[in-house]
Amino acid sequence: MSAVAEPAKSCALCPRLVAYRRDNATAHPDWFNGPAPSFGDPNARLLVLGLAPGRMGANRTGRPFTGDFAGKLLFETLLHFGFAEGSYLERPDDGLRLIDCLVSNAVRCAPPGNRPTPDEEDTCRPHLKARLAALPKLQAVVTLGDVSRRNLLKALGLKASAAAGGHGVITDLPGLRLYNSYHCSRLNTNTGRLTPQMFRDVFAKVRADLDA
Ligand code: SF4
Repeated sequence: MSAVAEPAKSCALCPRLVAYRRDNATAHPDWFNGPAPSFGDPNARLLVLGLAPGRMGANRTGRPFTGDFAGKLLFETLLHFGFAEGSYLERPDDGLRLIDCLVSNAVRCAPPGNRPTPDEEDTCRPHLKARLAALPKLQAVVTLGDVSRRNLLKALGLKASAAAGGHGVITDLPGLRLYNSYHCSRLNTNTGRLTPQMFRDVFAKVRADLDA
């Protein structure tokens, strides 16, 4: 059976991640504790692709990047460039709406330590492939971090060498333009590896290209 763009909440293909979900569900039965569904416009031209849900972010709230540190900069930036409207209040019921943009993750279940294994990336990749295939107007992908970029390339059937790494690097791939960004994690922003301006510069370029 071919994979679906949004896995069922009961997906049990990755034993380690399922055990982690179960542990989190035992400790916090009020949390979401499942594969985080993509969030946004199913007809989006822009996909923002993270690596995997954060335990306290999408794993808790059920909406990608919602409730963890990375979401603040991401959603503020999307609001700034017109890829979202409303207010981001760190809750899935804040009414925030994405415009021409979908946010998803290469691996849908939260991994311990925020690090999925290569096997888990491979196992979840059919969902990423299906997600890409189900975006009929897709033109632009912003990948957050190197591992996200490599997963995108693999999902497109391309070699890792098809797009160089590095923040701000832009690569034209068959059918879409790839924009690399460092991940908007607490670590990257606190250390100054990624400043809010560096992050905005990526989305400014996406906005300009889509408006051209
Ligand atoms: S990471 Fe993906 S494939 Fe693995 S259990 Fe979660 S939804 Fe299923």
